[in-house]
Amino acid sequence: MRSVTEHQRVVAELIQRRPAVSADLADALALVLAEDVTAPLSLPVFDNSAMDGYAVRAEDTAAATPDNPVVLPVTEDIPAGRTDQLQLRPGTSHRIMTGAPVPAGATAIVPVEATDGGVTTVQIRQHSEAGKHIRHAGEDVTSGATVLRTGQQVTPAALGLVAALGLDVLPVVPRQRVLVISTGSELVSPGIPLQPGQIYESNSTMLAAAVRDAGADVVATPTAGDDVAQFSAVLDRYAGESDLIITSGGVSAGAYEVVKDAFGRDGDQGVQFVKVAMQPGMPQGVGRVAGTPIVTLPGNPVSALVSFEVFIRPALRAAMGLPDPHRPLRTAVLTEAVTSPRGKRQFRRAVLDAEANQVTSYGPPASHHLRWLASANALLDIPEDVVDVPAGSEVRVWDLR
Ligand code: AMP
Ligand code: MG
Repeated sequence: MRSVTEHQRVVAELIQRRPAVSADLADALALVLAEDVTAPLSLPVFDNSAMDGYAVRAEDTAAATPDNPVVLPVTEDIPAGRTDQLQLRPGTSHRIMTGAPVPAGATAIVPVEATDGGVTTVQIRQHSEAGKHIRHAGEDVTSGATVLRTGQQVTPAALGLVAALGLDVLPVVPRQRVLVISTGSELVSPGIPLQPGQIYESNSTMLAAAVRDAGADVVATPTAGDDVAQFSAVLDRYAGESDLIITSGGVSAGAYEVVKDAFGRDGDQGVQFVKVAMQPGMPQGVGRVAGTPIVTLPGNPVSALVSFEVFIRPALRAAMGLPDPHRPLRTAVLTEAVTSPRGKRQFRRAVLDAEANQVTSYGPPASHHLRWLASANALLDIPEDVVDVPAGSEVRVWDLR
């Protein structure tokens, strides 16, 4: 049997980073920069007013006091967005709004609160110092400066900055495009009445959500019955536009194992089927279909999602350059004893307390008990050689929160 670590390595090697692309800003959130970003202009772009008020020469207000205001004529009105270039003559003022360009010759802005708010003449009740309430060109960003670095994850604030710099695309590591195929002739889409022997198809909904949660894109979520021709048709239709194919089901030891049947059980068609020393999730497969990486997961829902967590999520995130490909690992105290099969690394669903001090195993270890996984917030990670874990032991926990 292959170890979990070895299978993690094989899957991680398979999933490769895509070449950088220019992404529209609307699509770039949470992606990782593939290049440094250099400012094409300065911020602020021009000297502008930090207040609603009056642009003046500071020295013209030198004598102003509340009791003896200075009176200046108001010769222009400058709302934000005025594009003509104005010149302030000595001994005059321009009414100006926040963000509007400071006219040449003005050295200070007097806030409207320090005036009578006049529109033809203004009474100024307070003297101003040169530079007061002016936001100077380039005081935030100088043109040519590196403002974001390669490898940085794009945040809302980073998007705000690049938009302010007038850029409409960003060089990013693109999302992996993942095709999620469910297999099984017993499967019916939710919303359709079940016939005897049928069950609702849940892996595609779950795995597609996990793919998106990992930061990747879902190409499609088709279901194929246990029929090689049907399964191959689905592959032919979507594989070309995918960077990774995930299948669930059809890889166990029984008959009608469509994924195994489609690729040949002996690995000669590019997909290798292996047993991994873990519970749940022992039957796994990995390889390439017409060049596209494929990871075949077991069909039991808990096995499928735990396998995704252990093998695919970290590999996908690493291939997108994301800074934290792995779930945070914690050490916590186990509240109740559990057992684990000898020779297998067991991943049990668990609940971690808010401080991540204590952890409680949640539900049975069996791979079809989806309900427990749905309300768990952690995975207990019990090493291969451990069989009994007494209450009070320190255990390794994957924090899924
Ligand atoms: P398999 O690996 O195909 O033998 O499937 C193992 C178990 O998981 C069977 O009970 C299947 O019915 C169930 N199963 C497989 N695929 C899905 C799916 N997409 N949604 C829900 N249950 C599934
Ligand atoms: Mg099946």
